[in-house]
Amino acid sequence: MTETTRGAHSLIERVKPKLPKDVQDFLMNNVIILTWEPEALGMAFTKEELEELYKSGKHIILLNEGLFEMPSDHSEFVLTHEIAHLYLRQTTIFDEHVKKNEVERLMREVEEAASELARKWLGASGK
Ligand SMILES: [Zn+2]
Repeated sequence: MTETTRGAHSLIERVKPKLPKDVQDFLMNNVIILTWEPEALGMAFTKEELEELYKSGKHIILLNEGLFEMPSDHSEFVLTHEIAHLYLRQTTIFDEHVKKNEVERLMREVEEAASELARKWLGASGK
């Protein structure tokens, strides 16, 4: 796992100017973007690594590096969608009392809201 590889950096630089100014500030000040190689099927984090990330006080976006090989409109949408999740402070962690069909419904809502906001930010270039 590495922090802002060249591919991630170029993707961030393409996406940033398309975002509203307050979202750009949010991204630069409050978000850490980490990437991992597409070949890696699993990942492990030590609690020390997690503590370091926690101490940064920042939100985290994880991106599969395979994304950087995809058409730019697609990769830009994926990153923007993930930023939208954080900007909306959406959570996908539900406690065990929430019923399975309710979780599925909430997940659909969360995903649709993030995509809708990402499309709005990207304008006509979004999918
Ligand atoms: Zn999503």
